[in-house]
Amino acid sequence: MSEGWLERASKVLLDNYFPPRLTLVRGEGCRVYDDAGRSYLDLIGGIAVTTLGHCHPALVHAIREQCGTLMHVSNLYRNTPSVRLAEALAARVPGTRAFFCNSGAEANEAAIKLARRHASTRFGAARHAVVSAEGSFHGRTFAALTATGQPKYREGFEPLVPGFRYVPYGDLAALEAAVGDDVCAVLLEPIQGESGVRVPPPGYLAGAARLCADRGALLVLDEVQTGLGRTGTFLACEAEGILPDVVTLSKSLGGGLALGAMLARGEAAQAFVPGSHASTFGGNPVSCAAALALLKTLDSDNLLSRVRETGEWLQGELRELAARQPKIAGVRGRGLLVAIDLTVPAKPVMLAAEERGFLINAVQEQTLRLAPPFVVTKNELRSFLAALEQILESTAPA
Ligand code: PLP
Repeated sequence: MSEGWLERASKVLLDNYFPPRLTLVRGEGCRVYDDAGRSYLDLIGGIAVTTLGHCHPALVHAIREQCGTLMHVSNLYRNTPSVRLAEALAARVPGTRAFFCNSGAEANEAAIKLARRHASTRFGAARHAVVSAEGSFHGRTFAALTATGQPKYREGFEPLVPGFRYVPYGDLAALEAAVGDDVCAVLLEPIQGESGVRVPPPGYLAGAARLCADRGALLVLDEVQTGLGRTGTFLACEAEGILPDVVTLSKSLGGGLALGAMLARGEAAQAFVPGSHASTFGGNPVSCAAALALLKTLDSDNLLSRVRETGEWLQGELRELAARQPKIAGVRGRGLLVAIDLTVPAKPVMLAAEERGFLINAVQEQTLRLAPPFVVTKNELRSFLAALEQILESTAPA
């Protein structure tokens, strides 16, 4: 039973996570199963990771094959899946070369180091400042944490990394004022995921790209949550017709295995030289083989158009629900990254959904987030919408 695992876990695992109520033991498609055999529709997908659903046969096959062939060599030696994966990413994000690591935070850490090195080689060490946005989330390692524009995550960890400043998200004039000649990089999410799926006004990212080009700073887009088709295009920034100097990816890249990537193009791609940066496991053959299977399946199963279609339909259904249910204050997002603003606390709604067999996430005090697998069906989503309506009906008004 879950209680047994809770007690065992609390004795041996540190307390940095809120203790989960569920212990999950198995997954298949869009469903996961707990240790008591109960099944749940997984509409959060391991926090925007399992885009093909759980244990997709193409992923399982690729991982098994690679495990039986070569699992690890480090970067003292070349491995063929990592070269193939870099080629596959360059085919989708033109002109880029890759550095592979193991997580989103590490990819951003690499991007910050790359930007500092690029600027110091070109302009000297005075140009080292990084501008990021209030409400952003870039990860928990020190530079990524410093770039994260949410004080609650930084509290108690000071002193942080020097040379970071924050601007209100979506405000181009504020960005213009902040990017002086000491700035080496502007780091932005194309849509802010963790702060509640906040979509910037049209033209913001294109404006940021122009500004960076004018002022000699690199535009780094953190597409850790939005990339790889989550918003209906391979990168979310494609919706604005721009390509940043540097883009970071992780989450779904390894199909559920730990993998991150920093892609750089143009001058930025020249900034690292042998010895500049490294990771023992970065680009390990098994994660890269999984990523190759993921990319192939996104194409062969036409999943990006499915994300656009299902995402639009879902937002439409949620808006109809909002018209009947005043506890929904708003619906936001793009593709299959969707937020539902409530007039009541989100956590009890999330827990009630869990009781009814649906996994969703209370991403902010009054905001729910959905990031389902791309293969989720409308019928599966309909069952969730019906449950959500019942839950909100039975929730006391704020
Ligand atoms: N960047 C963004 C936009 C994220 O959403 C996250 C995680 O939620 C990260 C970075 C950090 O990724 P990781 O937890 O893999 O370090």
